[in-house]
Amino acid sequence: METATASRHSTTHTVQSVRDLTDSTYVLRMDRHNMSFSPGQYISLGVNDDINMREYSVYSGVDQDFLEVIVKEVDNGHVSKLLRRLKPGQSVRLDGPFGFFTIDPETRQNADFLFVATGTGISPFHCFALSYPELRYTLLHGVRTSEECYDNDVFPADRYTPCISRESSAHFNGRVTEYIRQNPVKPETKCYLCGNCDMIYEAFDILTDQGVPAENLFAEVYF
Ligand SMILES: Cc1cc2nc3c(=O)[nH]c(=O)nc-3n(C[C@H](O)[C@H](O)[C@H](O)COP(=O)(O)OP(=O)(O)OC[C@H]3O[C@@H](n4cnc5c(N)ncnc54)[C@H](O)[C@@H]3O)c2cc1C
Repeated sequence: METATASRHSTTHTVQSVRDLTDSTYVLRMDRHNMSFSPGQYISLGVNDDINMREYSVYSGVDQDFLEVIVKEVDNGHVSKLLRRLKPGQSVRLDGPFGFFTIDPETRQNADFLFVATGTGISPFHCFALSYPELRYTLLHGVRTSEECYDNDVFPADRYTPCISRESSAHFNGRVTEYIRQNPVKPETKCYLCGNCDMIYEAFDILTDQGVPAENLFAEVYF
């Protein structure tokens, strides 16, 4: 995993709010200062007086006048803990945007998409959904319990399939990879995978076996 350190290119952004979603997950909203980015990109964040910075995909939409990231507070994690303690009016250091987990305008209009996320890997897809409402996609969200289906009202119900591994529910019970095995994907589908590397490697193999060529597979590995 790439880990950024403080850079002279950092800019300072004021925190607007820290909104808890679950015991461990929250949304940090900050001033945008007209920063431009492409949906799917990430930024690097850190707090003042601490040299460490970490990468976070942009969660908010491209037309919103604030910036948001969704963060899981990791056990024994450093930056994910510091960011959660911030109060409105305090500031963060921000670098970026970075990354190529994006969709070009022609593909956006013509392709069908499969989005596959685990946990906070939902972030770039939340940004896509807000920024490109015309997009034709199916979104699989791998979570342990239904409380981790963060802010899912952003996604039309017929596009969003939670895959819940540790709770019986009316939704798919099992991991996203099991769902893909049971529901083969057309080779021309553009497949975007985001989250932990175990899911990404496994999904990559399954999709390849189903005939999806490498040029239709895109991945953003968080850890
Ligand atoms: C391109 C990119 C985009 C990212 N976007 C997001 C995002 O939108 N939201 C988000 O929450 N994280 C995201 N991450 C992960 C994030 O950058 C940090 O790794 C994470 O917040 C932990 O940082 P920390 O300083 O708290 O923990 P550290 O002190 O750096 O590390 C603690 C340990 O936690 C592990 N770890 C990291 N993330 C997780 C996790 N989610 N669950 C369990 N273990 C984990 C690390 O592998 C490490 O072993 C992204 C990473 C990359 C590379």
